[in-house]
Amino acid sequence: MTTATWQQQLRDCITQPSELIELLGLSQELSVQAQAALKQFPLRVPHSFVARMKKGDANDPLLRQVLPIAAELEDVEGFTGDPVGDLQANKLPGLIHKYHGRVLLTVAGACGVNCRYCFRREFPYADNNPGRKGWQPVLDYFAADNSIEEVIYSGGDPLIANDKQLAELTQQIADIKHIKRLRIHTRMPIVIPERVTDELLQWFTGSRLQPIMVVHCNHANEIGTNVKAAMESLKQAGVTLLNQSVLLQGVNDSAEALVNLSQALFDADILPYYLHLLDKVKGAAHFDVPKAQGVELSKAIANKLPGYLVPKLVREQEGELSKIIVR
Ligand SMILES: *Cc1c(COP(=O)(O)O)cnc(C)c1O
Ligand code: SF4
Repeated sequence: MTTATWQQQLRDCITQPSELIELLGLSQELSVQAQAALKQFPLRVPHSFVARMKKGDANDPLLRQVLPIAAELEDVEGFTGDPVGDLQANKLPGLIHKYHGRVLLTVAGACGVNCRYCFRREFPYADNNPGRKGWQPVLDYFAADNSIEEVIYSGGDPLIANDKQLAELTQQIADIKHIKRLRIHTRMPIVIPERVTDELLQWFTGSRLQPIMVVHCNHANEIGTNVKAAMESLKQAGVTLLNQSVLLQGVNDSAEALVNLSQALFDADILPYYLHLLDKVKGAAHFDVPKAQGVELSKAIANKLPGYLVPKLVREQEGELSKIIVR
């Protein structure tokens, strides 16, 4: 059996709770609440990610990240639509310039998976992709600001865009002399590792820009054989591989889960970079881990791991010049 291409896998994503629940051998009662909650943010998960879930376990840490539940419909004080202030930093369609020297490009509006805790639940990314013709104002903005050294492809998930588009954009960015680094923030190589194609390796590592990829993985079980193979080819092509996770109640909120995650990441050539406290987005309150507990967990894993396997515990703060280290 040949593996489906990433495009086929995207098209075949599961969007119906009943299908997901049947595949995992769980009670169809779960799909009634899922059906109500997905009206705010659709269910979307590739088969290959579901294959890494444990059958018959309604509390599986990967399932919890993707299955809509009734708790999403509760209004909880302090959980809002734009928790990180991205709408203010949105300088041009497709461009978010909040931090010194680094700019985010929202290259694509969609993702390979819809994560229930995501701030994208509410951000109007669909209106924020300038499309192929619209990059010129963004390129002009880069060219006019010598302080910009690093461009970050973000989204949605930037690797939803095809390699031809990304190759063109990358070439145009490489032509701007003061830009040194190209970083991709993506969950695609984790959920659909076949996204790491030869074409991707070519445009990503074939220009003068230094390539960095920050993947997004929250649990050791997300890293299977195909993810490892994808990471190995990126590493061999010279990509610096980092990971960011979100600290999520019921997913990775124990020292054991976090230690296992760091070990599994390093086995796949990835260094842990950030562990984020949850952005307080409406509908995700049930994932929140209090700051004090996050600090305790962070200390607990630091006592068990070499320093390079301990991610920085951070949170976003509107108006600050970087993410805030939480202690
Ligand atoms: C996280 C983030 C960056 C990159 O920040 P680093 O600390 O360099 O990883 C850039 N822009 C925005 C808007 C971000 O949220
Ligand atoms: S932006 Fe990242 S966290 Fe949010 S839904 Fe997409 S893949 Fe998941």
